[in-house]
Amino acid sequence: GATLGVLGGGQLGRMFVHAAQRMGYFTAVLDPDEHSPAGRVSHHHLRADYLDDVALARLGDLAEAITTEFENVPADALARLGERHPVAPGAAAVAIAQDRAEEKAHFTRCGVPCAPNAVIDNEEDLAGVDDALLPGILKTARLGYDGKGQVRVATRDELRAAWEALKRAPCVLEKLLPLAFECSVVVARGRDGAMVHLPVQRNLHRAGILAVTEVHEGCVAPAQAKRVIDATRAIAKGLDYVGVLCVEFFGLEDGSLVVNEMAPRPHNSGHWSIEGADVSQFELQVRTLAGLPLTPPRQHSPAIMLNLLGDLWWRDGQERTPDWAGVLALPGAHLHLYGKADARPGRKMGHLTLTGPDVAAVRTTALEAARRLGIGAF
Ligand code: ATP
Ligand code: MG
Ligand code: MG
Repeated sequence: GATLGVLGGGQLGRMFVHAAQRMGYFTAVLDPDEHSPAGRVSHHHLRADYLDDVALARLGDLAEAITTEFENVPADALARLGERHPVAPGAAAVAIAQDRAEEKAHFTRCGVPCAPNAVIDNEEDLAGVDDALLPGILKTARLGYDGKGQVRVATRDELRAAWEALKRAPCVLEKLLPLAFECSVVVARGRDGAMVHLPVQRNLHRAGILAVTEVHEGCVAPAQAKRVIDATRAIAKGLDYVGVLCVEFFGLEDGSLVVNEMAPRPHNSGHWSIEGADVSQFELQVRTLAGLPLTPPRQHSPAIMLNLLGDLWWRDGQERTPDWAGVLALPGAHLHLYGKADARPGRKMGHLTLTGPDVAAVRTTALEAARRLGIGAF
């Protein structure tokens, strides 16, 4: 059988490995952590990082085609691998997605509006900030995730202090918008330009971290759903993208929509598709990488996903195992644990997807699961 390679050994890599292996592929994971979630279930695990030329060459020797589960791989490592093998997504698209300023410029080129923003690279940029961007959120241009690397600022003094706290890294200041809801769309695009997408996903974040995703008829109004799907397709096409791409949007109180950011890989908000759709986002990743046909995924069940953060492993300062038997007693509960040993608060340890015959049933079981686990209601 052929071997598919993946840069990064986190949970996204692990679920890619599961999908690839189910379809008869061997897998090779590159990640320095010998206990990485994906490395420990892969046929090959190269224990090195993306900056290691020897490891990259070895991955190239092992794998027929290579993908990434992590957007912060150096684009030139992808470009080098791409000289010998299909690499999806490609270096150019990843380079844009890993930088918020570049990403916003791309959205604008595609005609998709973003939050009002300014790039802050130096003192002059800081001094020249328009007061209309305050209150705002200062975000590092690179490497932020789960709300890390961003600071809410109300005044120019706070802005300066935040920029100092972020070590004067290149940043983007975004106006703080009145959000009515958040949503995201996963698309997959093949080398021939064929594109399919998953239904629009409605997302609830808590403290900057995705907490709950709901996907069902009407979770986003049809006219708005069409607009975010069209925008996502335009963004993928504009990148000449190959692979799975997720784009996040904000729905504002006045009914308008703006794009937030994109991830050049499967996304936490698409995990429900493993049980809720006939083709998951990870199977889409395998198909795009291997050059297999893309068929439109069909959602066969309403779905709600609850993220399982490290906090659930702690009560009154004591580490404990959450009550899995309690949630697995609920019909349509699908438990995913990523095999991470260290349950730090805020760390994504797993997720629970609830599926069922109709939205009301799924909401009831999801709320009960949240109650049994001690996750806040939604
Ligand atoms: P991810 O883990 O999704 O990559 P991230 O660290 O890149 O997260 P963002 O997606 O930029 O962070 O922001 C995290 C959350 O903060 C958003 O989902 C939203 O809830 C809130 N947020 C971000 N930007 C704004 C904004 N301009 N106005 C209002 N809320 C915002
Ligand atoms: Mg992000
Ligand atoms: Mg985000």
